[in-house]
Amino acid sequence: MSQQDFGVIGLAVMGENLALNVERNGFSVAVYNRTPARTEAFMAERAAGRRFKATYSLEEFVASLSRPRRILAMVKAGKPVDDLIQQLKPLLEPGDILIDGGNSLYTDTERRVAEMEAAGLCFFGMGVSGGEEGALNGPSLMPGGSREAYQALEPILTKIAAQVDDGPCVTYIGPGGSGHFVKMVHNGIEYGDMQLIAEAYDLLKNLLGLNHQQLHEVFKSWNETPELNSFLIEITSQIFTYIDPETHLPLVDVIVDAAGQKGTGRWTVESALEMGVAIPTITAAVNARIMSSIKAERMAAAQVLPGPAAHFSGNTEEFIGKIRDALYCSKICSYAQGMALIAKGSQELFDHQLHLGEIARIWKGGCIIRAGFLNKIKQAYSENPQLANLLLAPEFRQTILDKQAAWREVLVEATRAGIAVPAFSASLEYFDSYRRDRLPQNLTQAQRDFFGAHTYERLDKPGTFHTEWVPIQ
Ligand code: NAP
Repeated sequence: MSQQDFGVIGLAVMGENLALNVERNGFSVAVYNRTPARTEAFMAERAAGRRFKATYSLEEFVASLSRPRRILAMVKAGKPVDDLIQQLKPLLEPGDILIDGGNSLYTDTERRVAEMEAAGLCFFGMGVSGGEEGALNGPSLMPGGSREAYQALEPILTKIAAQVDDGPCVTYIGPGGSGHFVKMVHNGIEYGDMQLIAEAYDLLKNLLGLNHQQLHEVFKSWNETPELNSFLIEITSQIFTYIDPETHLPLVDVIVDAAGQKGTGRWTVESALEMGVAIPTITAAVNARIMSSIKAERMAAAQVLPGPAAHFSGNTEEFIGKIRDALYCSKICSYAQGMALIAKGSQELFDHQLHLGEIARIWKGGCIIRAGFLNKIKQAYSENPQLANLLLAPEFRQTILDKQAAWREVLVEATRAGIAVPAFSASLEYFDSYRRDRLPQNLTQAQRDFFGAHTYERLDKPGTFHTEWVPIQ
């Protein structure tokens, strides 16, 4: 019996589409799903006439693969991955590679790599972005694990990944859980992008009073600019044209304003806090989803906590341009934060220089944050791989200097109108904190020394000092 080139476990939306992608690119694929009905449906509806082999036990699945086996698991993140490992471990042989393509927490991946390596097996953590469409037609792939395993997987991964002008959207990220770490930060940046777009929408709709056709046109025109051209801006422009067949209203107006989350944004914030990296835009985006989710409480508060009436008396066309500038400056700050987190992860977690320019390149296609702007980030790091912060790259520095007056004006108007713009504000605060050579934390240090003898350093001489501060009278 001929052996299959590749195996896929988990035939929900992502596994099914990735399996189809691998087969379309010239590899025969064995598939397995815990619930057999899903495998049967896949074979009947999508696999007919193609080089798939359905299997109905893990033993049959493993036996159907050529050696060394290359297996992609696309199952629910968390315990299901551990359960699957326990079931597969006795069936696999040294040299076999098990890839977890789900949204696993990178620390779980680190643990699993160690566990599998102790058994002579290879575990590979791979971030996959692009949703169901990307999985089918070309995702952005963020593989992490042993370099030898990557070399064995490379011929397949480079074919199934999205293709952009400078290559496939896949690169070897680094050891251990680094692939899942980078995917986690990608998702954090995605939270930031989505929140920034939501805030621009809020201002355009509720401060300037734009209707849905106008919103569509504004986002469509923004999508045609080199700065903002991106998948998320493109789908945003399309959302405003969709009319709900039941109510005949724009569907977006019928949708409850309470955002869900699956945890990768929160993980990004937790990791950043643990490593001491400030990512205020991404944190603001996670908090904004949390605030949105307390809908009933907000509805009650709206009855008793009035704010100023949203009112704008300036030039609407001009202000739309300023909102676009504020969005772009904030986006630069958000990516600066994400990249700073990855850079810190290189040192603290993986002892491996994660290649920021390459990471920006593989996000150019296939994934949810794909955008023309990523090319500028790639270029910034190829010009200066040691760049301390994206804000210091000449192009981004100049952009912010040119646009910061507009950015500040948007925040002033939003504040005056009582419209919360937490991610715009957090981005500007990041910029204003980063660019200042003296922050007020000299006072914080004095307070800490006052009440807790925590000591302080001085500007005028080296050493650590403590003062017996005059007690409050
Ligand atoms: P999902 O809903 O996250 O997971 C469903 C799949 O997991 C089914 O095949 C299910 O099998 C299997 N499963 C659940 N518990 C299991 C267990 N204990 N043992 C074995 N199999 C188990 O599916 P998905 O949306 O396709 O996502 C798969 C992974 O990709 C997840 O980690 C997800 O976070 C990640 N991801 C998803 C997207 C997306 O857009 N959906 C994008 C990127 C990454 P049964 O049929 O037997 O229940």
